[in-house]
Amino acid sequence: METRWLHVTSENFASLREASRGVCVIPVGAVEKHGLHLPLGTDALISEGVVYEASKLEEFCVFPTFVFGDMYGKFPSMPDGTVTLSVELEMRLLEELCEQISKNGFKKILIFNGHGGNGPWLATFLRRLGNRKRDYVAATYFTWECAPHELAKYLLENGPGSIPELTPEDEKYLLECHEKKMLVGHACMGESAPMLALFPEDVHFERFGIEDGHSTHAADHLNKAGIKTMDGGWELDYPNFYCADDHPGCTVSIGRAALRFQAERFAAAVKVLKDDDFLLAENERRNAGWQ
Ligand SMILES: [Zn+2]
Repeated sequence: METRWLHVTSENFASLREASRGVCVIPVGAVEKHGLHLPLGTDALISEGVVYEASKLEEFCVFPTFVFGDMYGKFPSMPDGTVTLSVELEMRLLEELCEQISKNGFKKILIFNGHGGNGPWLATFLRRLGNRKRDYVAATYFTWECAPHELAKYLLENGPGSIPELTPEDEKYLLECHEKKMLVGHACMGESAPMLALFPEDVHFERFGIEDGHSTHAADHLNKAGIKTMDGGWELDYPNFYCADDHPGCTVSIGRAALRFQAERFAAAVKVLKDDDFLLAENERRNAGWQ
């Protein structure tokens, strides 16, 4: 069944609604620099890719991607290609989109977030919704990156050959990365892997080695003193918008495994939401209290 809102016909929409059992997912991303090797839209593209793959495993409606996310920096110091909307506009836009989704019969809305910087405003968004009368429930899910550490842990537990996508070289590389405690954070292997599976032509490992992905420790003294600046000083520590060890051994096959793991995990989460009766019942009770 076609699960993507933009690809289904109006005539077939009711069938999608029925198969989704009320669940509609909004992939959310950001437009920002991802080192020198990944494209600006990495977060949005991964969100969309994982959500779509998951919808093939556990049917639900895939809403068009909410591409723009929250960025802490200010122009003109932001790297080329950054797009950031005000938090107020993002909140309003997301709420109106949720209302449209609800009017179309989906009462369980799940926001799939692929950009860590969206966490604070999405939490506030849910708080705000909680203070309004509405006929739907909304919740968030933060994307779960699994290369290299989660894949390596799976291999260690289940043995060589347990992840069918991987070659013996892939397995060796993943275990090495895990043993070395490879740094993952931003534009890291956790993001390069699914991007290799989805858009291999957009991944440029030949750019490794030009900019450093390790912390400058510029914000350490603030953090040590318990002073929390925006994003815990991330913008000071990682001025290259790269927080990772280079990972030139990451391959398309590792990417396919990572994408499948992420999609399966998300499909399982959607199943929980589909089966849940508590959230909507609780919302009804809250609604009754508003009158
Ligand atoms: Zn990212």
